Amino acid sequence: MKEFLHYIDGRFAAPATGEFFDNPNPATGAIHARVARGSSADIDAAVAAAKRALAGPWGSTSTRERADYVDAIADAIEARMDELVELESADTGKPVGLARSVDIPRAVSNFRFFAGAVRHSENGCHPMEGALNYTIRRPVGVMGLITPWNLPLYLLTWKVAPALAMGNTIVAKPSEVTPLSAGVLAEIIDSVGLPPGVFNLVHGFGGEVGEPLVSHQDVGGISFTGGTATGARVASAASSSFKKLSLELGGKNSSVVFADCDFEKTVEGVARAGFANQGQVCLCGSRILVERPLLERFTKALVEKVSELRPGNPADPTTNFGSLVSRPHQEKVESYVALGIEEGGEILTGGARPALEAPFDEGAFFQPTVIGGLAHDSRTATEEIFGPVVTIHPFDTEAEAVAIANEVRYGLAGSVWTSDLGKAHRVSAQLETGMVWVNTWLLRDLRVPFGGVKDSGVGREGGKYSLEFFSESRNICIKL
Ligand code: NDP
Repeated sequence: MKEFLHYIDGRFAAPATGEFFDNPNPATGAIHARVARGSSADIDAAVAAAKRALAGPWGSTSTRERADYVDAIADAIEARMDELVELESADTGKPVGLARSVDIPRAVSNFRFFAGAVRHSENGCHPMEGALNYTIRRPVGVMGLITPWNLPLYLLTWKVAPALAMGNTIVAKPSEVTPLSAGVLAEIIDSVGLPPGVFNLVHGFGGEVGEPLVSHQDVGGISFTGGTATGARVASAASSSFKKLSLELGGKNSSVVFADCDFEKTVEGVARAGFANQGQVCLCGSRILVERPLLERFTKALVEKVSELRPGNPADPTTNFGSLVSRPHQEKVESYVALGIEEGGEILTGGARPALEAPFDEGAFFQPTVIGGLAHDSRTATEEIFGPVVTIHPFDTEAEAVAIANEVRYGLAGSVWTSDLGKAHRVSAQLETGMVWVNTWLLRDLRVPFGGVKDSGVGREGGKYSLEFFSESRNICIKL
């Protein structure tokens, strides 16, 4: 069984307490790794190393040198692609096909993209009468990066790459549920020769590692992706020391389907939006709003499409639907299905654990589930389930569709499905979300602003927004 240690000051380090925790494969329940259980002592050591590294040669590296390091990390991830694909699948329960087509390639792209972005970034210059202003960007300092379990390497590298590119040092804390690919990232970073202390990794639990990291006086900023309730705790703990803060939080996103949509493509797109990664993507469209004349036909076709998703062994390349991330999460999803029934919903497909043979009978599987007949403002239809459960609701007018989509506390993303361009523009502009897709879902350009409004977060990441977040602008005014 593999053991995963912290990575602090350029060395793999045992936890200060000597304690480890077991890491199960969620598809079988079997324990497949032991992971260092961090504490505030480990965070103190990691932050001290990161602070020393800032004051050392790393603090005076050029943009070109840093971009070269970031590119080298991309190459090294690519070289370990097969190993990372298998590991990410085993740790999360997602199908290997998904890890191979999305998670690990995207980690490579994150590093390549930010290497290019920082090489081509520009700084402002404001000439005025008798003086010249120019703006430089300096690193924020020691950055705390806290990430969730649904896209472990993808989301961690989305933060590590721009943080390094802008010259910060890092203390990363991955989800305790899925820490393994972060452990391999530490090995990769070690292999490319980044100076000791520039990247540090501390494994462990939110309360034991995340909290001391967020409240540490020597940490200059926190980039956090996770649930809304945790985000509120992070914001409150970070506020007294005025840390720079980026919060990417939960979502309950609507897919708005108009009767004039391209039917086949919409059914396919809406099913993908609902069930990608077993519905465990913050952007998943789990509220499906359908213009009433199309409701019956669309529901039937969606149910047929969803029935093609067959839960099975995530390590099998032909599997199109894996397990959920953990038994507790499976139980949470199950409780929401029970609530949906209690609230008057009808299970149109799914609704239970699938019957699988050993060893997968011990796994955290759940059937992809469509629930009809619920009020659009019911708890099941408005709270984030973060699993393979969608609810479907009719609407009669454009205004009603917008009102239903906007009634949730979240505001992360949405999608609009129509062949009327005018309608697409009107509805998209009125949705209270950070991102809207029209006739597609999760089509990503890494330059665009990514983030949510309302209870889905604060701040934007992506392209120049990440470079801005991971740096401080300083203006220099020269009297001529
Ligand atoms: P959590 O909020 O439970 O955890 C996120 C991270 O925060 C984990 O590393 C967790 O550690 C850590 N953490 C927990 N408590 C604290 C604390 N008090 N202080 C500091 N850190 C803490 O989220 P999940 O891991 O359950 O992820 C699912 C959530 O993430 C969903 O709500 C989803 O919508 C959201 N998400 C948002 C995205 C976005 O871009 N907006 C993208 C992906 C997911 P530990 O694992 O040990 O508890």
